[in-house]
Amino acid sequence: LFITIEGPDGAGKTSVLNELYPRLQLTAKRTIVKTREPGGIPIAEKIRHVILDPINDRMDERTEALLYAAARRQHLVEKVWPALEADEIVLCDRFVDSSLAYQGAARGIGMDEVAAINKFATEGTTPNITLYLDIDSDTGLQRIMKNRTNQIDRLDSEGLQFHQRVRHAYLKIAEANPDRIIKIDARKRLDEVVKECFYELVTRYPD
Ligand code: C5P
Ligand code: MG
Repeated sequence: LFITIEGPDGAGKTSVLNELYPRLQLTAKRTIVKTREPGGIPIAEKIRHVILDPINDRMDERTEALLYAAARRQHLVEKVWPALEADEIVLCDRFVDSSLAYQGAARGIGMDEVAAINKFATEGTTPNITLYLDIDSDTGLQRIMKNRTNQIDRLDSEGLQFHQRVRHAYLKIAEANPDRIIKIDARKRLDEVVKECFYELVTRYPD
């Protein structure tokens, strides 16, 4: 079972996962692998470091999209595919939808172009279910400023318009994939968002 969590910066993906993971461990009968993108394994964490280094703020957007796709593939090969093969549950912070929203829409490459390189990278692997944490861009940016004073990375500093393009794209992707993507209002308190995510997962996948 492949579960991904998506959303704009400041939606609370990482915080939600950190609470959701132990709760699922209590109920699930299978092993749960919690991981993230870009990263999750040493090679992909190194690629993450290259992409997010503020010194690379002039990186070409297609180069960036390819690096995300490369990190994604290696992460699939080393971690996700073996876990799915072993019938484990994979809980992943970001996946292809992030690339469609950030590189495809917000950076302007085009979602179809980015979908194409990701099809190459993933060989078509798609999450069974995606929890999309929806947040308006003002609230999202405010949260980033408040919580990550020492870790404002390249994209967090991109400004309101960039964040709005990301969110708009996510909403479009969610609308186009209603069977896979569950939209959750991430303006609510963390414990309520966690509760909702948990409920959505256990009602669909009781084991
Ligand atoms: O997932 P996390 O928020 O840690 O991602 C780190 C940064 O990478 C974020 O600022 C996010 O906006 C950016 N990112 C991106 N394109 C992706 C995935 C993440 O620009 N495909
Ligand atoms: Mg961020």
